[in-house]
Amino acid sequence: MKVLVTGGAGYIGSHTLVALLAAGHEVCVFDNFSNSSPVALARVRQLTNRDIRLVEADICNGDALMQATTEFRPDAVIHFAGLKAVGESSENPLLYYANNVAGSVNLLAAMDAAECHRIIFSSSATVYGRAQYLPFDEQHPVHPTNPYGRTKAIVEELIRDWAAAHPTASAVLLRYFNPVGAHDSGLIGEDPRDIPNNLMPFVAQVAVGRRTSLAIFGDDYNTRDGTGERDYIHVVDLANAHLAALDYSEKGPCCEVVNVGTGRGITVKELVAAYERACGRNIPAQIAPRRPGDVASSYAATAKAERLLGWRAALDIDAMCTSSWRWQSNNIEGYGDASAG
Ligand code: NAD
Ligand code: UDP
Repeated sequence: MKVLVTGGAGYIGSHTLVALLAAGHEVCVFDNFSNSSPVALARVRQLTNRDIRLVEADICNGDALMQATTEFRPDAVIHFAGLKAVGESSENPLLYYANNVAGSVNLLAAMDAAECHRIIFSSSATVYGRAQYLPFDEQHPVHPTNPYGRTKAIVEELIRDWAAAHPTASAVLLRYFNPVGAHDSGLIGEDPRDIPNNLMPFVAQVAVGRRTSLAIFGDDYNTRDGTGERDYIHVVDLANAHLAALDYSEKGPCCEVVNVGTGRGITVKELVAAYERACGRNIPAQIAPRRPGDVASSYAATAKAERLLGWRAALDIDAMCTSSWRWQSNNIEGYGDASAG
């Protein structure tokens, strides 16, 4: 299948490219490298020994998207491109609406022009907001609590309306929980540009000596050990979920929202302990105040993914930490100043 991958140079996109190419798909990446490096694509080429077409452009540029779809004529699109920093989305909401919402409108229009009506979209568990019950199943009300989450919820609605207008359309809206870890080769992984907002990349940078210690945001939550609990999902499992979603979308018209998680919550302290086992080092940490807006627990109901996509997570927290450590210790500054080759 010919698959256009927006945001394919990013963290989840690069791992999904490896899975797509291994499965024999032909890919074209559309990315402006606003939060990624061309080195990631060079590493994917190295890993797969396959060529990757690249269109270096912005999804805010409708003409560039239109040209990409009409030239490549994809059978399907996987839409990762977007901005994802919650704090930044509150400071600059228009940037988020322009990239995530208007960019997605441009993409769907460009797909229409190329008569491609199949899309897999990167949504997020953040659309659920505060839990009314756990685990989060796909029927849980959607109440995002920040502009980033609202852009994801809006794009879900946008895609639903677009799919309803096309009798042959297939859309799978994947709500990711907390993607972590890296490809086992240690060649590709998560490489945040600034101070990491998320727990695992922060821990990885402490482990490798780029930061002195971890602040644990609150130890007085109603969880096993008082620290926040999340559903961490190995990025390689997540990449495979995209392949399963692509297969499902081939079966016939659909528009489905599907959680992608393990169904299991891990606390901050449990994650730190697992990382210490993986790297064989002590991770200095101290308790800090709660982070505003944080919830105590979040984890997925996974039955729909299993039933619809025949997919379920296979890799555990130790595999997540070991692979993260391999990536971080082999690439202390991430893609840093490595050459794109
Ligand atoms: P990432 O930032 O590593 O990857 C996003 C890619 O999109 C980058 O390569 C970036 O350069 C590109 N991009 C951003 N804006 C663009 C634009 N306007 N035009 C063209 N390219 C653009 O992020 P990721 O972690 O790989 O996330 C991928 C998707 O999954 C995002 O849509 C994100 O919101 C969503 N998601 C991520 C997480 C997570 O924790 N990583 C959780 C839930 C959902
Ligand atoms: N967390 C932490 N210190 C950090 C970053 C995160 O204690 O430097 C905690 C955070 O409070 C939450 C968990 O780790 O309980 C996961 O946070 P992350 O930002 O990775 O995911 P999200 O909260 O967006 O699901």
